[in-house]
Amino acid sequence: MRRVIGLQKFVHLHVHTEYSLLDGANRIKDLVKRTKELGMDSIAITDHGVMYGVVDFYKEAVNNGIKPILGCEIYTAKRSRFDKQGGWDADPGHMVLLAKNNTGYKNLMKIVSIGFTEGFYYKPRVDMEVLERYSEGLIATSACLSGDIPKAILNNNYEKAKELALRLNSIFGQDNFYLELQINGIEEQNIVNQQMIKLSRETGIPLVATNDAHYLRREDARAHEILLCIQTGKSINDEDRMMFSTDDFYVKSPEEMISLFGNIPEAISNTVRIADMCNVEMEFNKLHLPKFDVPDRKEPYEYLKSLCYQGFERIYGKEDRDEEKINRLEYELSVIKQMGYVDYFLIVGDFIRYAKEKGIMVGPEGVLLREAL
Ligand SMILES: [Zn+2]
Ligand SMILES: [Zn+2]
Repeated sequence: MRRVIGLQKFVHLHVHTEYSLLDGANRIKDLVKRTKELGMDSIAITDHGVMYGVVDFYKEAVNNGIKPILGCEIYTAKRSRFDKQGGWDADPGHMVLLAKNNTGYKNLMKIVSIGFTEGFYYKPRVDMEVLERYSEGLIATSACLSGDIPKAILNNNYEKAKELALRLNSIFGQDNFYLELQINGIEEQNIVNQQMIKLSRETGIPLVATNDAHYLRREDARAHEILLCIQTGKSINDEDRMMFSTDDFYVKSPEEMISLFGNIPEAISNTVRIADMCNVEMEFNKLHLPKFDVPDRKEPYEYLKSLCYQGFERIYGKEDRDEEKINRLEYELSVIKQMGYVDYFLIVGDFIRYAKEKGIMVGPEGVLLREAL
């Protein structure tokens, strides 16, 4: 029997776009358009291991009156992120992270970067230590069948699943960690869902319904299958290729989702609750230049000026006070100040100085700066 839930809303919080390279078939423009068509007011982006699509997605969503929720489906290393041994450390777990605020967004970028710079082994991976360090401002969910908790459940290790869930719940904090339920026609998923519900009852960790959308409409499943063949270097006729066993991974309407999860309404209402908690604002009209660490807490412009005058004396000698040269120097400095580039020049000057000290060649474009600083 289908339960009537009235005007309850649903938000997709686990969505792959074309930036899940050769795995996601949702083009950002079409995804936002479809979200609107289906009467939803928010949607998340959670590409595999990367955040390449986040800015395009944010702009497209905001321009269309849709609230963008910024996230990523990261990879978790089986042991530490530094362990990269054949046979042991391939096949990492999945976990969805969503940014609640700008701190969370910065932490998410940090986590994704560490995945590449320190944890890369087939995929960009992080471990518990990284999650512990950068958990502030983030919501995490247990992801698909490739998540560590579903994997433990499918290995008949409920205790390990529970232990992991409790650990993640304490890392992210109550109501910032959710057990993900999906209904996609896969046999193992039904087993996982049952155990997730049990886990939620036993631990108080809330549930959330997602659809792990990889393409827009049901009929796009075939195109997505071909995309996966390209990724894995297989032909569509290969029997043993990696494939999704159902055509359910599309952007379902709120009505479809609500009807599927009729007997677990909190999994639906929690999507709206999470969406309300996620409020990242991006600024595009402001320069975000780094600050230079000025020695002795001097004012940056005064410091730049003093360096330039030292350079001036070095080039022209202490005696030279030629008015034309001084005026020129003052003019250049005033433009740098007016444009807000003082710290930028100090940073460039600093690495050029470092390069010269270490005998590293410095490009010709920086001649004046190079001589002056
Ligand atoms: Zn996944
Ligand atoms: Zn996914």
